[in-house]
Amino acid sequence: MQAEARTINSYQTRLGHGPHVLCPTCGSQIHFIKTVNGKQMPCQLTLEYGDERKTLVTNSGRTVRKAGRDVIGYQPHWGFCKR
Ligand SMILES: [Zn+2]
Repeated sequence: MQAEARTINSYQTRLGHGPHVLCPTCGSQIHFIKTVNGKQMPCQLTLEYGDERKTLVTNSGRTVRKAGRDVIGYQPHWGFCKR
C-alpha cells in the first residue's frame, strides 16, 4: 500500500498537471489530456489506479476501459458532469 502511494506520488510529480480549467457546463475544475487521437479529453484532477471497472485516461493519452490495477490515469469528466 505504501509502495503504491509512493509510486503514484512520484508519477504525479514527474508528469505535472496540465492547466486546470472550469468545465463550461458544470463549473467543476477539470483538466484536458490530449488523447492518442489528437482530441482533448476533459478529465478529473485526481490521478488514480484502475479497479477493473472504471475507464481511465493515462497521461500519454490512452483511454483504458475497465482499467486494471496496474493502470494509473484520470477518469474522464463526462461521468461526473452535473448538468
Ligand atoms: Zn462538467
